[in-house]
Parts: sequence; structure tokens; C-alpha cells
Amino acid sequence: ACAISPRAIVSDACASYSTLERLNRNVKPALDELTQTTDFFSHYRVNLFHKKCPFWNDENGMCGNIACAVETLDSEEDIPLVWRASELGKLEGPRAKHPGKSAQAQQPERPLQGRLGEGVGESCVFEYDDECDDRDYCVPEDESASSKGDYVSLLRNPERFTGYAGDGAKQVWDAIYRENCFSRSSFPRSAALGSDLSAKGPAAMDFKAVIEAAGRQQVLEEQRQIQPLTPFVAKTGLEYEDECLEKRVFYRVISGMHASISTHLCWDFLNQTTGEWQPNVACYMDRLHEFPDRISNLYFNYALITRAIAKLGPYVSQHQDYTFCQGDPEQDAITRSKVMAVTEKATSVAHIFDESLMFKNGEGPSLKEDFRNRFRNVSRLMDCVGCDKCRLWGKLQTVGYGTALKVLFEFDNNDAPAVPILKRTELVALFNTYARLSSSMTAIQEFRAMVEQIEKAS
Ligand code: FAD
Repeated sequence: ACAISPRAIVSDACASYSTLERLNRNVKPALDELTQTTDFFSHYRVNLFHKKCPFWNDENGMCGNIACAVETLDSEEDIPLVWRASELGKLEGPRAKHPGKSAQAQQPERPLQGRLGEGVGESCVFEYDDECDDRDYCVPEDESASSKGDYVSLLRNPERFTGYAGDGAKQVWDAIYRENCFSRSSFPRSAALGSDLSAKGPAAMDFKAVIEAAGRQQVLEEQRQIQPLTPFVAKTGLEYEDECLEKRVFYRVISGMHASISTHLCWDFLNQTTGEWQPNVACYMDRLHEFPDRISNLYFNYALITRAIAKLGPYVSQHQDYTFCQGDPEQDAITRSKVMAVTEKATSVAHIFDESLMFKNGEGPSLKEDFRNRFRNVSRLMDCVGCDKCRLWGKLQTVGYGTALKVLFEFDNNDAPAVPILKRTELVALFNTYARLSSSMTAIQEFRAMVEQIEKAS
């Protein structure tokens, strides 16, 4: 049996955690190879011309921009210019404009040339088709904007500490968590104020504390119940008395994504006094170590995305609908084989997440729509993130989870097409989100070892 003390993070006595860590050790090299060495998977399109935050007005005192975040640092003016949040948050490296629809129509074989740097095969980077369909969990990047955004290098813009903090960041996270108020909520009525985010006040914030406390209680409960070698699916927790499974899953996805972002910023942290980039154990302790539920949610996300990737594998290998580099068969074959290396490894643990348990009772279809709409709102909220780099990774990961949910819940159904046609943006986001979780798990293991050492020494 797996007896975990309330302070424990991940116990090796728990097969579910160690199973995922073992799987990660197996998958990670192939995943790093895919995301770090192929043009297709190392470039992502993001709308740099700050789409207006659709939920609140930056000028009415509800601050959502970087200037406000900077103000919250005590002595920003004492910090060298290059280490300031405004600099750290900027995107770096060459960019290329997305060729608009008319340009694509004129030159269907060859997209407009951008400026992505030497050795980057642009045919492996640009995307032609980006129409929305109603199975999408995310708002496609070009939904309302005339500009389709720029392609940026993910390698040149690693997810790490940027200094983005304060009221602006807090407001976005609060709004994201409030999207968890499903109509069937058994939580206080005052918290479930519908989806007009701007109308939500302090009452909704109390809700967050309630659900977080409930989450912590539940994870401890779950941890007590884990049996060795129990597949991780057991921990999706079907039988929460006061909360439906779907709502619980929504919360876990968000919280796990938040935990992964926190892990990266703590792991790749800038000491703004010395200018050194290094892991920050105190940051990890404050944001993750003290909150086993957050780490559990991150592992949960790893299981969920693993399942989506495994499900996608056979389609990528059997169908040529997926072209990775148009006009460059060699690169196309190389990229495809690297994708296959990841999907095959992700398939090595059976039944890691059982999506068939969700959306199946009487309210299934409407609940699913609610779930999808709320996830779309989370995706829109990324336009309220006031730091370019954070927005890049926030958008990418939201699209990554949205894609995983689409693969899990929208394909293989009787009325769905046999082949999940995913946009380039979705594929890139899905695999890079997987890579984010993968490196978060590795970092957490290292952090844990550091904490143990510190505890031994004291
Ligand atoms: P925050 O992380 O802002 O958390 C706010 C509150 O949410 C906490 O007080 C806690 O109650 C709760 N909470 C925290 N973690 C969890 C969790 N896992 N599950 C449930 N509840 C939780 N900063 C960077 O340096 N680099 C980045 O790349 C970056 N990307 C970001 C992307 C997005 C979309 C957003 C909104 C912010 C990003 N930030 C980034 C800012 C960063 O996430 C924090 O907001 C910032 O560091 C301030 O941290 P904090 O300690 O105030 O708590």
C-alpha cells in the first residue's frame, strides 16, 4: 500500500508516480530530439501584435500589462537593464510573418519567404490551413485578428523566469481559475457567475480558495488510496461526491499547467542581483513542494497528454495526411520518424488515462460543450498576459492541452472522422506541451533531491 504523509510530494512506493517517471525517462530523449532538432516542431506561430485582452480594459485600473508588473518589483531601477522584467519578457531571435491567405492562394506550392535564420527549412514551418472547427477547444490564433502572427523560434525563447508578476499576472490566473465554475457547480452560488469574466468580483476569488483547498484534501485522499501498480487512471477520481469528474479534470489541467510554468521559472531562474541563471530551491519550495496537489496535477497532465499522443500515433504512421515539410521529402521523412519514435514510446504504458469515463452520463453532451467553451475562454485569456514570452508559452500550452482534449474526446466517436486532422499549430503545441511537462518532471525530481540534501544537512 502507498502510505504518503501529507507533506510527501511523490513517493516511490506509489507505482503510479514512479511509473510515469520511468515512462518519462524512456520518452524524454526522443521528445527532446523531436522538439529541439526539427524545424517543424521548434517554431511556433504567435500573434505578436498584442491582441486586445477581450475581458478587461488595461486602462481602467485593472492592470494587465508588463508596466504594472514591473512596478511591483521593489527596486526595478536598481537592476541592470538587461535583467529587468520588460527585457526578459521580450521575444528573441529571427521571426517570419505568416503568409496571408491571398498569398497562399497565389503560391500554393511555396509560401512567402520569411526570415527565420540560416538552415531553417521554411516549408517545414509555415502553415496553410488554419480554419476553425467546432471541435476546437482553443481559439485559433487568427480568429479575430487580421494578422496571423509571426513564427518564432521556441529554442531561442525558452520558457523560464521573466519577472512577470504582480497584479497583472495574478488577475490572469484568477480569471483562468474562475472558468472552472461549471453550471452544475455544487460550490456556492455566488461564485458561479457565468462566463462574463469582467463581471466577476471578489466573491469569485473566494471560490478559488475553496476549490484549491478541496483539491488538496482530495489529492491527499487519493494518495492514501493508491495501490502499488495501480494504473494512473485510478487517480482521475471518479467518485468525488460533491463534484463531477469533468469539472475536476478541468481544474487539474489548469492547475497542472500552472505548476509546470512555475517549475520552469523556478528551475531556470535569474538571480537579478548577480545576473546568474540557476535553479531556485526557495521558489520551488514556496510554489510546489508545499502543495502536493499541484505536483499531482502536473503528473496527471503528463498522463493525459501521453494518452493523446499515443492515440495519435497510428494515424501519423498510417496516413499521409500529415505532411511535415512540404516540398522536402527528406526532411519530411526524418521529422515523421522522430514523431513516431515519441508516439511509440508513449504507447508503451497501456491505459494510462481512460477518457471514455468522461462525458458519458445524461448531461454528457451539454457538459462537454460547457467544458469546451470554458477552455476556449482560458485560451482567450492568454491575450491578457502582459509579457511576450509568457504569452508565447501560455498560448502554446493552452493550445497543446486543447489539442489533447480534442484528440481524446472528439475523435474515435461514431460521428467523428476516422483521422484526426490537426492543424500544424496544434501538432507543434501538443508535442511541445508534452516536452514542457517532461522537463518539469525531471526538474521536480532534481528539486526533490536538493530539498532532501538541504534537510539532511540541517
Ligand atoms: P502565481 O503563480 O501568480 O499564482 C497565483 C495564485 O494561484 C497563488 O497565490 C496560488 O493561490 C495559486 N496557485 C499557484 N500555483 C497553483 C497551481 N499549480 N494550482 C492551483 N493554484 C495555484 N512568469 C515567468 O517568470 N515566466 C513565464 O514563462 C511565465 N509565464 C506565465 C504564463 C501565464 C499564462 C501567466 C498568467 C503568468 C506567467 N508568469 C510567468 C507569471 C507567473 O506564473 C506568476 O504569476 C508570477 O511568478 C507570480 O507568482 P506568484 O507567487 O504571485 O503566484
